Amino acid sequence: MSKKVVIKNTDPDSLGHFGPYGGIFVPETLMEPLRELSREYERAVRDPAFLRRLDYYLRDYVGRPTPLFFAEQMTRKIGCGRIYLKREDLCHTGAHKINNSLAQVLLAVRMGKKRVIAETGAGQHGVATATVAAMFGLECVVYMGKVDMERQALNVFRMRSLGAEVVAVTAGQQTLKEAISEAMRDWVTNVRTTHYVLGTAYGAHPYPVMVRNFQSVIGREARKQILEREGRLPTVLVACVGGGSNAIGLFHPFLKDRGVRMIGVEAGGLGIRSGQHAARFADGRIGVLQGTRTYVLQDSDGQIRLTHSVSAGLDYAAVGPEHALLRDMKRVEYSHATDEEAVHAFNALGRWEGILPALESAHAVAYVIRNRRRWKKSDVIIINLSGRGDKDVQQVAEWEKKHK
Ligand SMILES: *Cc1c(COP(=O)(O)O)cnc(C)c1O
Repeated sequence: MSKKVVIKNTDPDSLGHFGPYGGIFVPETLMEPLRELSREYERAVRDPAFLRRLDYYLRDYVGRPTPLFFAEQMTRKIGCGRIYLKREDLCHTGAHKINNSLAQVLLAVRMGKKRVIAETGAGQHGVATATVAAMFGLECVVYMGKVDMERQALNVFRMRSLGAEVVAVTAGQQTLKEAISEAMRDWVTNVRTTHYVLGTAYGAHPYPVMVRNFQSVIGREARKQILEREGRLPTVLVACVGGGSNAIGLFHPFLKDRGVRMIGVEAGGLGIRSGQHAARFADGRIGVLQGTRTYVLQDSDGQIRLTHSVSAGLDYAAVGPEHALLRDMKRVEYSHATDEEAVHAFNALGRWEGILPALESAHAVAYVIRNRRRWKKSDVIIINLSGRGDKDVQQVAEWEKKHK
């Protein structure tokens, strides 16, 4: 890391600009609802009663704080540094997504909304939102691409069992991008009764900053936990980057600590040269997609490219705008891991630690494995284990069958 970088605050301006990125690119009818959401969000996070309520449910319902686990076997295998896992996989419903779903649903209740909608790719955000909506007695509709519904049948069943309506989206590639468009269309029509629970640090302002702040509980806890365990700050943080919420949630509370290197790991798919990946920083250009300006995978005509990853949660053509700024500032480094490396890391962590990571999180584990010769004895490395791998066993089995 360059030592001369001055770490400025990355908070966006009042219109959600993170430097040249972010902003609000939506139809006119959504401008006022987004403004109202910003106002209500600002009020809520200054209201001690709201924060007490959020803390209560994070503790007793989600199961926070999640442990920071010293991965002794992995540390031994890697041979250098000390490796810790932030166990977001132990959150209720099996991933970090519920930190944000819970907070946004509490906000929706506070705003008097009776209905929530969400988009989902792998189904983790849909399950988290359906779960919290059930507890608070809200109507819940989840938009999901038809192809994703087939790939993630288990999560569709979970959402329906929780009382949510799952709507199959049949436009275009029939995956996450189309599901987001459909959710936005619903929101335009039903905005008076409905809150749109967006699942990552992406989209029009205030979503990127709001979701980041709701996920920053991960980094605040990790900071306290590592100081207790090691008596010092970590030297390296590693997290996978889809839209960017688990990564920014871990990174944000450490941004001003110069000695902490941060690495975001994107989906390298079949390799950058194959064109089949979702590594926006390796191969993307600046553009506007679904409400925000950021790095987008696009062809020379500006058409959104098809993406590929073995992990549905990383398989999206654009990345959250704050990450784009952090990359320009050189505060965070971005790398990628291939499908093959992720599947290998999935198996390795299972055997070393008895923990099956989500294939998304396995990309972060893979980065640490690949760079094992670079770690120093004095390194203290925290990997964000954003979710558990139970949802992915079918996917891994199929991958291994194909590559035997
Ligand atoms: C959705 C998901 C991701 C990717 O989303 P981010 O917003 O980048 O965190 C990563 N890991 C898991 C387990 C997920 O469910």
